Amino acid sequence: MLSHQREILILGGGPSGAAVALGLKKLGYQQITVVTEARPFKAMEGISERVVDGLKGAGFKHALENLPAPSARFVTWSGESNQANTERLIDRVAFDNALMVDLAMQGIHVIQGRVESVHSADFGHEVSVDSCGQSLLLNAEFLVEARGRAAPSAKLKRLRGAETISLLQYWQGAEQERCSAVQSFENGWAWLAADEKGRRYLQLTFDVGSTNLPEKSKLVEFCNEKLKSLSQAQPFLDNAEPTGELHARTSTPILCEEAVGDNWIRVGDAAMSVDPLSGNGIFQTLSSSLQAPAVINTLLAKPERSRLAQQFHQLRITELFYRFARIGRDFYKMEQQWPEQPFWKQRSDWPDNKPIHQQVDLASMEVCQRPVVNAGFIELVEVVTTSDQPLGIWHLSGIALAPVVKAYRASSGLNDLKLRLDGLGMSSEQQQFVLGWLRQQGASFDSSADHH
Ligand SMILES: Cc1cc2nc3c(=O)[nH]c(=O)nc-3n(C[C@H](O)[C@H](O)[C@H](O)COP(=O)(O)OP(=O)(O)OC[C@H]3O[C@@H](n4cnc5c(N)ncnc54)[C@H](O)[C@@H]3O)c2cc1C
Repeated sequence: MLSHQREILILGGGPSGAAVALGLKKLGYQQITVVTEARPFKAMEGISERVVDGLKGAGFKHALENLPAPSARFVTWSGESNQANTERLIDRVAFDNALMVDLAMQGIHVIQGRVESVHSADFGHEVSVDSCGQSLLLNAEFLVEARGRAAPSAKLKRLRGAETISLLQYWQGAEQERCSAVQSFENGWAWLAADEKGRRYLQLTFDVGSTNLPEKSKLVEFCNEKLKSLSQAQPFLDNAEPTGELHARTSTPILCEEAVGDNWIRVGDAAMSVDPLSGNGIFQTLSSSLQAPAVINTLLAKPERSRLAQQFHQLRITELFYRFARIGRDFYKMEQQWPEQPFWKQRSDWPDNKPIHQQVDLASMEVCQRPVVNAGFIELVEVVTTSDQPLGIWHLSGIALAPVVKAYRASSGLNDLKLRLDGLGMSSEQQQFVLGWLRQQGASFDSSADHH
């Protein structure tokens, strides 16, 4: 393993900053410092099993051991109710603390403090931090911006969806089983969660432009009126009382179109934040953060490949953003009761009308060069691009696809193709697998006929 002595500063200790820190440590970086302050409000969030896999892949242990079991999720959407799904409800303050414990267990330096200012130049960064009333000035060669939606971005080029706000209230009731519920209404949707201690998190999401939100002092009353009208909210309101202040969270989808430079990178919500409706925030955050260490490693150790590494990061971020934006759009489309209401109208055809998955189309399949992650670096290799995978597939189940597609294109029929796959050293099991994949892409094999 390589040992690097270059100071990398990670601003923000949510899932993205923490995952990047662990990834850099795995690549042999020793001089990593995370600066973070606890999030200033309580929140419960729901995660799927894909997040559990992502946390495992990133190398978290303590955070995983402390995850609650999946609990029931009740849904009323487009007038229909079901309770088919489950999700794990995490207390974000406890979860973020557990992430920091993981970093400490792996010897990563964490400073609890608030980043006050960042001055960046080509040769490095100077960051001033307020740590428990003490001013610190930190220098770094490389900066990872992982402060989530709080990361300053006004000077960067961004793409924004419809301006959206989520109003979160805390209620306290009797002890009960953990559960959550979702319900759509005329001008937004509600997400409600309760834990076994009777704490209830009641979140209402509205369109900023078209909702006539009252002044701050009347927001609680406004939200309570709405909650009382929702059937799914009743079990969360029964025998419960509001506690604490209402908290407003911006939930507008935002893509940062400049997410990487020569000596800095933005990851997680700082690079792209998705609509919370799809419940994929932490998943997309981990997805973008798992590949960032290889981008950083390339920028630092192979500067001749900087452009390639930057292009790779920006393309992945953009691709992930659109994928999750389209998933959100399709959830909004499923709500059919108020298609003309501004909330639903604006969100059911944004960011575009392209399907989440493109139709398979053999003619559009190409072998070309694309950047991929290989052994901790970004490298240009031959991949196969398809209409559904424009960034390319390098390996599928451990098999390099570009030689397979070349063999298919050069062959005159099934028997000839099999001979060529033999020539690539592929076992009969691997051949069956790639033939199956080619069929899924629309290839047909006739042992006597030419398939071109
Ligand atoms: C209303 C709403 C509901 C959501 N619900 C869900 C859900 O149910 N499921 C889900 O998967 N995702 C959900 N998300 C998305 C999820 O919260 C984010 O995608 C995820 O937390 C992003 O991780 P991150 O590490 O990039 O940023 P964050 O988790 O925001 O972490 C950033 C960290 O940086 C710290 N920080 C910020 N500024 C400073 C500073 N100046 N100095 C020091 N530290 C600082 C913050 O305190 C925080 O600890 C929701 C988002 C919103 C807005």
